[in-house]
Amino acid sequence: MVGLRWGARTDVGRVRAANQDAVLADHPLFAVADGMGGHAAGEVAAATALEALRGVARRPSVADLVDGVRRSNGAVFERSIRDLELRGMGTTLCALALFRTEDGHDRLALANVGDSRAYLFRRGTLRQLTRDHSYVADLVAAGQITEEEALHHPNRNMLTRALGVEPSVEVDHWELVPEVGDRYLLCSDGLFNELSDDELRELLDDDVEPEAVATTLVERANAAGGRDNISVVVVDVVADGEGPGAPEPALGGWLDPDDPNDSHADEDTGPSSTQAVPVVPVPSSPPAPPPATPAAPRRRRFTWRVGLFVGAVVAVLAVATLGLVRYGRDAWFVAIDDDHVAIFRGHPGGFLWFDPTLEQRYPLRLEAVPPAEVQPVLEGRTFSSRSDAVTYVRNLARESAELGLTPTETIPTTTTTTTTTPVPTTPPAAPTAPTSPPPPTTEVLGP
Ligand code: MG
Repeated sequence: MVGLRWGARTDVGRVRAANQDAVLADHPLFAVADGMGGHAAGEVAAATALEALRGVARRPSVADLVDGVRRSNGAVFERSIRDLELRGMGTTLCALALFRTEDGHDRLALANVGDSRAYLFRRGTLRQLTRDHSYVADLVAAGQITEEEALHHPNRNMLTRALGVEPSVEVDHWELVPEVGDRYLLCSDGLFNELSDDELRELLDDDVEPEAVATTLVERANAAGGRDNISVVVVDVVADGEGPGAPEPALGGWLDPDDPNDSHADEDTGPSSTQAVPVVPVPSSPPAPPPATPAAPRRRRFTWRVGLFVGAVVAVLAVATLGLVRYGRDAWFVAIDDDHVAIFRGHPGGFLWFDPTLEQRYPLRLEAVPPAEVQPVLEGRTFSSRSDAVTYVRNLARESAELGLTPTETIPTTTTTTTTTPVPTTPPAAPTAPTSPPPPTTEVLGP
């Protein structure tokens, strides 16, 4: 059985205006969260995630911890739905907790979402336990870029998995067997993007209190540039009785990101125990293969607001389309078809995808059209209603007869397409017309 000693720090760094990281040091539960989102949303996401995580069981098993991370995801997601200004926020979350199995063995539960990391420093060797859920990590895993290139890649901040951006989240998790002398490090990318693995190893390989190590790590990351918020939790596995001697530790709570001096490292060591279990940590879930195409880091969720917006856009488009259809179809014109006067539905020359369709052809030939109307008919004389067009043809026939132009003729009815709508077979005769208007010879309706 083992105990823990720990130290934690979070720092704004030297470039960022605000610290969107948050740290939880609440023995036996430790976590780092690196929030993202506009304005203060990242801070809210990280703080919300850690606050929700504190509701996990007192000594959470791996399943408990995964459960807790999922509840954190739900808490962040719910909050981002409720508050428009927080929409799209998310956070990484890397959590470590000591628990005891039913048969009395100490174990560590580790859970991770995003690109914060957990390392194990054991007997001089540094090992990264978690796998980054990031675009560049996938590229490195696929052999497309090197670790060095990943550090300077323009999309190095793009996450493929984060907490709080979807209603549910997949959580990587491990059950680790602690060994006295182990030193665990949880950290945000503001640390490992500034310090190489060799530098981390060198700084962790120092026989000082974890709090001092945490402080040094932050100082060195700032010295290297401090281009991002920097958060670290250092947890040492010690034999029972090696701690300062306090009984069950006072609860540390999570660190205030605005106070870089806030730490609970001096609060306590862990519970008593004497036996270490010298087994190498074994991942309980092997890392998933990298996706072929990494997802965008801050994917928009389909909220009811988005649904409302999409619905409104669809409605506007539907109304506009109906208007276009109506404009394209609810028009008539008189023109020449096969040398005869005819009524068409549509616009001369067509409109968008609406081609004019032949409605009726009359036995009134072009040469019988009164001279004044020849040009308009050739160009297509338009009307807003079918009855206006019929009246126009009727008047053409009457005027043609009055002028003694070629009378109407009987022309054979052409083969037509299926008639789907009844149309007048004879335009109404003008009361004063000496001859009846020519009957239509053809009935063709478009769709
Ligand atoms: Mg960061």
